[in-house]
Amino acid sequence: MEAVTQAGGSARREKAGRRVVDHPRADISADELDQRLTKASIPVLVVCLAHMTGDARWLGERYRPERTRGLADDPTGGLPEEVQTEVRRALRDVVLDWVAAGRPAVPAPTPEQMPALMEQALGEEVPARYSKMMLAHLGFAPRAVDPAERPWAQGKSVVIVGAGVGGLLAARDMTQRGFNVTVLEQQSDLGGVWRTNRYPGARVDTPSAIYTYADFRRNWENNYGSQPQILEYLNQFVDAFDLRRLISFGSPVTSARFREDHHDWEVTFGATEQRTLIADIVITAVGTFAKPAIPEIPGRDKFAGQIFHTTEWPDEDVITDKRVAVVGSGSTAVQVVSTVATWARQLYAVQRSPHWIAPAPNYLDPVEEDTRWLFDNVPFYGEWASFRVGWQHADKIYPSMIIDDSWEHPDRSINARNDRHRAFLTRYAQEQLEGFEELIPHVLPTYPPYGKRMVVDSGWFAAIKRPNVELVPAAMQSLTETALVTSSGRHLEVDTIVLATGFEVAEYLSPMKIVGRDGLELHDFWSKDGARAHKGITVPGFPNFFILYGPNVNGAAGSYTGIVEAQLSHVEAVLDEMWRSEAELVEPRMESFTEYNETMDDRLTRMIWSHPNVDSYIKTSSGRIIANRPWSAVEFFELMTEVDPSEFIFS
Ligand SMILES: Cc1cc2nc3c(=O)[nH]c(=O)nc-3n(C[C@H](O)[C@H](O)[C@H](O)COP(=O)(O)OP(=O)(O)OC[C@H]3O[C@@H](n4cnc5c(N)ncnc54)[C@H](O)[C@@H]3O)c2cc1C
Repeated sequence: MEAVTQAGGSARREKAGRRVVDHPRADISADELDQRLTKASIPVLVVCLAHMTGDARWLGERYRPERTRGLADDPTGGLPEEVQTEVRRALRDVVLDWVAAGRPAVPAPTPEQMPALMEQALGEEVPARYSKMMLAHLGFAPRAVDPAERPWAQGKSVVIVGAGVGGLLAARDMTQRGFNVTVLEQQSDLGGVWRTNRYPGARVDTPSAIYTYADFRRNWENNYGSQPQILEYLNQFVDAFDLRRLISFGSPVTSARFREDHHDWEVTFGATEQRTLIADIVITAVGTFAKPAIPEIPGRDKFAGQIFHTTEWPDEDVITDKRVAVVGSGSTAVQVVSTVATWARQLYAVQRSPHWIAPAPNYLDPVEEDTRWLFDNVPFYGEWASFRVGWQHADKIYPSMIIDDSWEHPDRSINARNDRHRAFLTRYAQEQLEGFEELIPHVLPTYPPYGKRMVVDSGWFAAIKRPNVELVPAAMQSLTETALVTSSGRHLEVDTIVLATGFEVAEYLSPMKIVGRDGLELHDFWSKDGARAHKGITVPGFPNFFILYGPNVNGAAGSYTGIVEAQLSHVEAVLDEMWRSEAELVEPRMESFTEYNETMDDRLTRMIWSHPNVDSYIKTSSGRIIANRPWSAVEFFELMTEVDPSEFIFS
């Protein structure tokens, strides 16, 4: 089988299970290469050389870069000038030879080659265990499979609920495997959170290099893609795989009922008129940020100005020259405040409690033109550059999230590393607020760093120093006709109130009614202590029912695209086992589900979110950590991809 996908201008071909790049966009001359390579990342070029030539010389000490520290990335890798020049020249010659030879296919590395390549890319040892995960994340391990190898999938139907990042990938993967796919989406268009979150400043806070489907890479214009760019990317993905025809928009799913006699699911959907579909398999991809958390505010009906949640940003200009209050302190609030500070006449950043805010020096920067050219024209430059970025966002911070029982400052941090993060972030805030020392106590959280998702500084510290901006360290208590009243008794006269108050994360799959075997309702099954699933995906008593972005799958860091790719590998592996057992239905054993959840709960007690000062949307009202997993990125990848059939019942 051979599948060609078009992404970012260069064609990528999957051939006999190995991925290759063979169609660079432009004709390449020596002069152009010399010029484009001047700003290239030397560590990335070194690995490209090792990868393209297979010459072990490039893995030697002479070309080993310095280990990166923090998120800063030195393009020279700390290598001497003469080595940098040697590397650039060698790469130029190798690429020119490759072009002259008619651009023969460059195979993706094997798992055996990966450890040495990864180590040389980073200048630090990388356990071999990471090879498979990184092959998958970089798109080196193809996701496409030959439908001819899945004869059982032909004619079987899959209903996918939701057309966001998760549902669209599920639709592509399941279609490629030969299933008949229908996607039911309640909105009038695709994109999920990237359609609804159109507020000023909306963009990813994980680098776009890793917030990308592994086998549909985009040559991103910005280091951190903006909401319109991500929406455009998702539309390109849908068009490339002709998925739009599979999606039924304006189709909220209200219920799904397992039909014991027929071994299938009856899915009911529709906003006004209710319709039904019968499916062999149901995959939900409704996300965890689909339902806004809108607080009850006494006096809301009296307020004469504009008030809206960030997911309902109005089309008209409600900011320019207005008096505005932004309520909240998470990523969204920080992005909005950073962006609208220069438009508003007066801006109040109303914060009940602060979040840790980390520097990201290139957050708003476009990717340099030369770098984008290299992505398109040097085989696997983009992949290895993404690897360097991705490594910083994989398990690097994981050790700082594990509670050390013997740590002597449990009031402020959870272990020595975590304490160093606290010191660094505190220093950063102090430096940013030089001359505004009175603000410092109001921007330093009591919870340990990484206890809540790290907020990226998109210009927030600069914004709150502006004369037209005021940081109000208080909660919103009520509204009058003209003002927002704070818990500290202030009356803030405003025209516009932006509720950056987040989402109802804990209400998994709500308000859908999911009925499994013997009339068991999923939300009744979950009523004791919130949503639970086996490895976050399957539930006993609910055969052929798979939950994407289910309970306890969120990572400490990293990108959702990597999570959902791993989850879909799990779904596929489980379905493969079902087929091998000549069965029609699969569900997890209750013992496996219970054991998994007990192990997970036990590990969670040792994770940062169990710290008493962490009070967050990732917990249920009873305090159970429901959204986050205790596993490191590599543990999670292995949990997803190494399926033990004995954990499932096939019938
Ligand atoms: C503002 C914002 C920024 C983010 N930034 C990042 C980031 O930088 N990095 C990162 O990794 N993650 C980020 N996330 C998390 C983000 O949710 C995931 O990355 C990802 O987009 C989730 O995709 P999804 O398809 O699972 O869910 P969603 O994008 O929420 O899509 C779910 C879809 O299901 C539909 N749906 C829901 N219920 C029903 C129903 N009953 N019937 C039919 N359709 C239904 C919804 O309308 C929606 O279209 C961010 C989230 C938000 C809100």
